[in-house]
Amino acid sequence: MTKASKASQAKSEALFARARKVMVGGVSSPVRAFKAVGGTPLFISRGRGSHVWSADGARYIDYVCSWGPLIAGHSHPKVVRAVSSAVARGTSFGAPCEDELKLAEKVCSSVPSIERVRFVSSGTEAAMSALRLARACTKRDKLLKFDGCYHGHSDAFLTNAGSGLATLDVPASAGVPASSAAETVTVPYNDVEAMESAFDAHKEGFAAVIVEPVAGNMGVVPPEEGFLEAARRLCTRDGSLLIFDEVITGFRLSLGGAQAILGVRPDITCLGKVIGGGFPVGAYGGSEAVMNMVAPEGPVYQAGTLSGNPVAMAAGLATISLMEVGGGYSRLDSTSARLERGLLEEAERAGVQVTANRVGSMLGLFFSGSRVTNFEEAKNADRGRYAKFHRSMLDEGVYLPPSAFETLFVSTAHTDADVDATVKASRAAFAKCAEGAYSR
Ligand SMILES: *Cc1c(COP(=O)(O)O)cnc(C)c1O
Repeated sequence: MTKASKASQAKSEALFARARKVMVGGVSSPVRAFKAVGGTPLFISRGRGSHVWSADGARYIDYVCSWGPLIAGHSHPKVVRAVSSAVARGTSFGAPCEDELKLAEKVCSSVPSIERVRFVSSGTEAAMSALRLARACTKRDKLLKFDGCYHGHSDAFLTNAGSGLATLDVPASAGVPASSAAETVTVPYNDVEAMESAFDAHKEGFAAVIVEPVAGNMGVVPPEEGFLEAARRLCTRDGSLLIFDEVITGFRLSLGGAQAILGVRPDITCLGKVIGGGFPVGAYGGSEAVMNMVAPEGPVYQAGTLSGNPVAMAAGLATISLMEVGGGYSRLDSTSARLERGLLEEAERAGVQVTANRVGSMLGLFFSGSRVTNFEEAKNADRGRYAKFHRSMLDEGVYLPPSAFETLFVSTAHTDADVDATVKASRAAFAKCAEGAYSR
């Protein structure tokens, strides 16, 4: 149980060297390779509550939380019990099961715009299927998305996307057919005029507008007043479907997701991350009429061998039930507010300009002196400084997302003491950023 402070990373380094011989870049998902922050990715051997332990045995306060799913922290006893019990009863049946039904009932009763839901195995699948459904409903092909939003890695969404593409500084992925890319129109987030112009310019109409109602893949960028309302209004006016990608925000900002807080209702909602409680799960849902377009009720085909997997459903149910009791969301909010306040104070003390964007337990840190309201502004923040900060925090025992274009996630397992330790660690890290002398 050693504190990580300047801990050895020898074992992680050795494992990473081995991994690079058999796994592309040594990882199963690009941002994990630490390319944006330098150094070697930590191999994680276990997690408990707000902490993870590296292969070298060092302990870190974790603000990655598996990129969002672990809202109750690592290996919460109730989740572990539910999962163990499910595993003992069989890991997959390829048939309906009761936990799947219960999670569906939970989703439909919690998320305002969902009457029918379909489970899939990832957020990527959810967004991909939602778009197919929107295209079927409207008999149109074109999609409008926003720069810096990420909707998984299916072809249609890999234009000016956030998350890994932003981290690696590539505007689009190779291998996407030109014909597919041509169907995707992008405009800046929070830019109502640009959205209106795009609607005017595409008289054939959009099948869908897809948006992260609170963006979490270019760092955190909240919607400005009127932005989502304008998307709703234009979609209704032109017969396009509005898709909220709530893969991060669903069950994280509230049981009803961002839409319950912001009061704008999409036609289709994508879910993932939290609803799987750390297992591979996604979902999409909407009104009965829209969802009945999906097979076996309708002509839109979509299926999955492991969809509605009983172990994953049990994990999701247990995780959500933890959030339903004891003011979980207000506690998350106050812990996160304490973190935001503490980090901003330390940044100011060190004379380092930092902009924090926080919505509930999603926190984005930008090394910038100005407001960050879209992808352009997020890219203008000092990423070199973020990398230094990341590295230095790691030395102090705090595990932050290894990219400035990701979100810090706070879980209900994070205590005030964790936050205070994090803030204390940040003093040295901000000081290093200020002197600019830190190199790695
Ligand atoms: C993570 C994420 C996805 C993709 O989910 P995966 O499970 O990684 O495929 C889609 N949309 C948003 C908003 C996400 O944050």
